[in-house]
Amino acid sequence: MRTLLIAGNWKLNPTTAEAAALLADGVKQGLGSATDVHVALAPPFVFLTKVDQVLEGSPIGLAAQDLYWENNGAFTGEVSGPMLVDVGCTHVIIGHSERRHGQGETSGQVNAKLKAALAAKLIPIVCIGETKDERLAEKTEEVLLEQLVGSLAGLSPEEMAGVVLAYEPVWAIGTGLTASPEQAQAVHAFIRNWLTQTFGAATAGRVVVQYGGSVKPDNAAELLGQPDIDGALVGGAALKAGDFLGIIKAGQDVMARGK
Ligand code: PEP
Repeated sequence: MRTLLIAGNWKLNPTTAEAAALLADGVKQGLGSATDVHVALAPPFVFLTKVDQVLEGSPIGLAAQDLYWENNGAFTGEVSGPMLVDVGCTHVIIGHSERRHGQGETSGQVNAKLKAALAAKLIPIVCIGETKDERLAEKTEEVLLEQLVGSLAGLSPEEMAGVVLAYEPVWAIGTGLTASPEQAQAVHAFIRNWLTQTFGAATAGRVVVQYGGSVKPDNAAELLGQPDIDGALVGGAALKAGDFLGIIKAGQDVMARGK
């Protein structure tokens, strides 16, 4: 059985450490000691230490939004896996569509970052997803296949079992448009099938595959109730503790029903 992972990607928000601490504390107080779903918060790099302090004593994981594939050296502006571990990170998001499309990040680079994350013993959350044009051109599976093959190249089944995937249709991120539960489940089943063919059924059965794209408290239950959707990567709704806790509650209800 896979435990749902609900992760909040704060992106370039909020502006101050004080506001970051307040948001993290709101989630911490609301969740309490519950571990029936896994929860992680991904603040900007500069607030990681502050948020780590706030989260002390809580089961909430701390995620970075990116990392570099080298550990040290002349790489201005980059942050490495061992540095993230040193400030308390447990997870790291890799290959978010805003990096793939905004910064031109390739699946080859995502693969190098993924290997660096695994070497640092961080739990990687690897994002994949098609654009609106690609979906309209019926290229969703082709695009996902390129991203899966390129991003996950060279992993052993054991390594793969420790990787979280996030299927995030680009057209649904921050747009208010959400894939219908049936649309999302169909893609998640495609991903699970590819994992089975590539890494074997035992590994495929262990991989957590999140959905991301305008997940809100009022659509979370239906999405999280789908058989191959194992959590959510949440952007906008993660910036209000109440909304994020509403999504977590939907996940807890799904787990309680014995997903
Ligand atoms: C995201 O940032 O990964 C995301 C899914 O954002 P939103 O929930 O705002 O669509």
